[in-house]
Amino acid sequence: MNIKVRLALQFTLIVGGILLFFSALVYYFSYSSQLSKFRQNLLDSARNTATLFINVDEVDSSLLKKIHQSTISFEKEELVLTDSLYRFLYSYNDQLLAEVATLEDITQGDLNYFSIEDKDGVFYRHAFENKHYFVYSMAHDRSRVENLKEMRKILFWSILLSICFSVLLSYIFAKKAIRPISQIIRSVKEINSRKLSSRLTEGKENDEIGLLAKTFNEMLSDLEIAFRNQEDFVSNASHELRTPLTVMIGESDYFLTHEWSEKEYKNHITNTIADLRHLNLLINSLLELAQVNRDKTIPFSDVRIDEILFVAIQKVREKYTGRKILPKIHYPENGNELVISGNSGLLEIACRNLIDNACKFSTEDVVVDFAIKDQTINVEISDNGIGIPFSEINDINKPFKRASNVKFIGGFGLGLSLVSKIMELHKAELKISSRVNKGSRFELIFRRKI
Ligand code: ADP
Repeated sequence: MNIKVRLALQFTLIVGGILLFFSALVYYFSYSSQLSKFRQNLLDSARNTATLFINVDEVDSSLLKKIHQSTISFEKEELVLTDSLYRFLYSYNDQLLAEVATLEDITQGDLNYFSIEDKDGVFYRHAFENKHYFVYSMAHDRSRVENLKEMRKILFWSILLSICFSVLLSYIFAKKAIRPISQIIRSVKEINSRKLSSRLTEGKENDEIGLLAKTFNEMLSDLEIAFRNQEDFVSNASHELRTPLTVMIGESDYFLTHEWSEKEYKNHITNTIADLRHLNLLINSLLELAQVNRDKTIPFSDVRIDEILFVAIQKVREKYTGRKILPKIHYPENGNELVISGNSGLLEIACRNLIDNACKFSTEDVVVDFAIKDQTINVEISDNGIGIPFSEINDINKPFKRASNVKFIGGFGLGLSLVSKIMELHKAELKISSRVNKGSRFELIFRRKI
């Protein structure tokens, strides 16, 4: 059952319930008001009869019967007048009231109402000259029965028509209310991985449906960026892998077409090995990046940031022998203040990449500094090298991104994106500030453990 039909039915059920309740109330109050009017009339008539018969000496039972017959105002009326010992003094048409046992049942208090079969009746205790007389009167209220019958018919048809009307109206209403959602469903069906740039119409209204479309559009934008990045990554990676391979194949093919001296063979093999090393390095970097991207559950433990920095510095020094990498570490009184929660292997890769870059893109000293702040431990790696052009800083940590001023310096453009990813996993921040030909500063901001 679709939502429109369900809404329409639920609404109709509520309307139907309210109408039924309302009709029951109207019917009940109309019934009780007509009944009490009828009883009052019956009582008035019984009182008059009793007063005439008991209080007025001249009126005897045959005269009263004549009066009664000539003034009859109720249908199937019965009237019985007895003394306090249930002896009949006067009776008129006493079919149901004839039984003394019935009369005894009814005689309670000074005034009592009762119903027998289709008749409503009244009992009334008449007092005159210290004597008590019992007056019973009952009749059939045809007009009430007919009125109520008519009323039932009217209410039944009114409820039925109202319910039909409500089904129709609520369906139209539900359809109108659901229309924007149906539109969203239609638009969403048209969006797929090749059409991620499509967006839903957000409309002018700031209601839930507008918000849904807006949230969906925001999600689409994020997905689109993620997809584009992935596409860029794949095409860059294949380009980077294919270019040296093509060169190697071309050179080797050419080499096979001639006879060469031993020295030339050696030269060729040495060059090919260098190219293969380069490729190996690229593949390792790609694997590291893929590993970090894939592993969302990397084991974390308490690690000392100074120890990580020392290992990283040591490794870079082995590569750049003779370069000065100055660690400016001010030890706090409590060594535990240097502890952060992280993965030592990944943190070492991040620090090593930054220190390696600082050495690669500068010729002077590289400084590794860190400061313990209120909430954070800030590691800073700075150099006085070629720097990064201002307009390129924001995108520099995307995979395969390299600044325009490093064309003649080796590299793949994967190191910084690896650092960013590692920082993201550690919920730490990477801040880059740089000026061309003045130098660069990379700041890693970790949350403190204590
Ligand atoms: P790679 O070093 O292999 O080129 P990275 O991802 O490590 O790749 O760095 C991306 C780019 O960021 C570098 O190509 C360079 O343009 C810039 N860069 C990174 N570190 C420095 C630095 N210390 N000084 C100047 N430029 C830098």
